[in-house]
Amino acid sequence: MNTPFDYLIIGAGAAGMGAAKALRSLDQDSSVAVLSADTYMISRPMLHLYLSHERDEHTLNFMPKGFLENNNVTWFHDCTISSVDPKKKTVAASDGRCFGYKKLLIASGASYCIPPIPGLREAENVYGFRDLIDAVKIDKAAEGAKKAVIIGAGLVGLDVAYALAPRGISVTVVEMADRPLALQFPKEAAGWYQRLFEKAGVRFALNAKVSGAVLDGKTVTSIETEDGTRYDCDFVVVAAGVRPNCGFLQGSGIAVERGIVVDDYLGTSDENIFAAGDAAGLSGTWEAATKQGVCAAHNMVNGKKTIYAEKETVKNAMNYYGLTGISLGMVEAPNNTYREIVKQDEKDYKRLLIRDNIVYGAILLGNITGMPVWQYAIQNGIDLSRTGKEIWDITLQDLKGL
Ligand SMILES: Cc1cc2nc3c(=O)[nH]c(=O)nc-3n(C[C@H](O)[C@H](O)[C@H](O)COP(=O)(O)OP(=O)(O)OC[C@H]3O[C@@H](n4cnc5c(N)ncnc54)[C@H](O)[C@@H]3O)c2cc1C
Repeated sequence: MNTPFDYLIIGAGAAGMGAAKALRSLDQDSSVAVLSADTYMISRPMLHLYLSHERDEHTLNFMPKGFLENNNVTWFHDCTISSVDPKKKTVAASDGRCFGYKKLLIASGASYCIPPIPGLREAENVYGFRDLIDAVKIDKAAEGAKKAVIIGAGLVGLDVAYALAPRGISVTVVEMADRPLALQFPKEAAGWYQRLFEKAGVRFALNAKVSGAVLDGKTVTSIETEDGTRYDCDFVVVAAGVRPNCGFLQGSGIAVERGIVVDDYLGTSDENIFAAGDAAGLSGTWEAATKQGVCAAHNMVNGKKTIYAEKETVKNAMNYYGLTGISLGMVEAPNNTYREIVKQDEKDYKRLLIRDNIVYGAILLGNITGMPVWQYAIQNGIDLSRTGKEIWDITLQDLKGL
C-alpha cells in the first residue's frame, strides 16, 4: 500500500469531481486522489451525444482541460473498488491494489436496473444506459436497426429516443405514467415535450406497463404490455430506475439503507468517511450531486460545519428540440390546499405551485429567466404577499430586499 492520501475519492462523476475541485481550492498542500471504475471521465447528461455521433469518449469529458495535472490530483481509472475497511482506513480494488486514506468520500453513483420482467434479463439485445460502455453497445445495436423500444420516459429514456430517432430508427417509448418526464413535470407541461418528440417521429405508449418480452432465442423481438399490445423491436433500452452503487460496502460496518446513510453534513456512520451524489440517494441530478460533493469536501477539510440544505429544492434542467425546461421543487400538489398559477403563450409556459402565498414548486418552459427568482423563493420559503407585487412581476431583488 502507498502512503495514505489525505483525501481519497471513489468515483469520477459529478459528486467526485465536484469534491476534488473543492478540496484542492480549500487545501492546496494535501494529497488528493480519485479512483474510478471508468476509463474516461464522462458527463452522463451528455452521454446520448455519443449515440448521435456528436461527441466521443474524449469530448464527453466534463472537466476543464488539464484539471488533474494543474491541480495535482491523481486519478486511478479502470480501478473498481471491491471493499472498504474503515478500521484500517483502506480501500481495496478488485485487481489487488490497496489505497490508504485519512478522509474518504464515496461518490460511486448508481447503476441501472433491469426489472424482473420475464425475458428481459436473459436477453442479449436489452441494454441499460448509464456508462460509456452502454452507449458503445447501443451504438452497435443501432447500426442497421429499424425499430427500438425504450422502457421509461424519464430523462434517460428521452435522451436515448432523442439520439436514436434521427438515425432513422422507429422508436417507441413505453411508460407506466400518463406522461413523459413524470418526475419533472405535471401533465400539461410534459405535453409540451411529448408533442416535440412526436413531431420528430417518436411514439409514446403511456399508462402502459411492460409485462413480458417475446424472445427468439436470446433476442427480444417484441415487448408486450399488460393490455396485450406488442411493440416489435430490434433492441430494447431499459431506462426505468437506478440503484445506488454501494455493494462494496458490505461487511464494512458503514450504514446503508436504500443508499449510503448520511447525516446533514453528508457524513456516513464512520467519522472519516463521507458520501455524496447518487450513491447517497438524496437526489438523482447532476447539479445536486456536484453540490453534495462540494459540501462534503468542506466538511472533510474543516470538520462538520457545512450543512447540505438543498434536499427539498431539487432542480432539473433539460433542453430537447430547442425547448429549455426547468423544474424546481415540488412537481405535483400532495393535496388540495395548494393552488396552481399558470401563465403561457405559444412559446413559453410557467407554472407555480403555491400554498399560503409560499411557492413550493416552479416550472418554466421556453423563457427560463425567472429561475433564480423562484429558486430563491422556494429555498427560503418566502411569503410572496410581502413583496406587495403581482406574482409575475416579482424580481429577485424584491425577494432579497425583504
Ligand atoms: C443518461 C443519463 C442522462 C442524465 N441526464 C441528466 C440531466 O439531464 N440532468 C441531470 O441533472 N441529471 C441527469 N442525469 C443524472 C446524473 O447524471 C446523475 O445524477 C449524476 O451523474 C450523479 O453523479 P454521481 O457523481 O453521484 O455519480 P456518477 O456521475 O454516476 O459517477 C459515479 C462514479 O463512480 C464510479 N464508480 C462506481 N462504482 C465504482 C466502484 N465500485 N469502484 C470505483 N469506481 C466506481 C463510476 O465509474 C463513476 O466514475 C442523467 C443520468 C444518465 C445516466
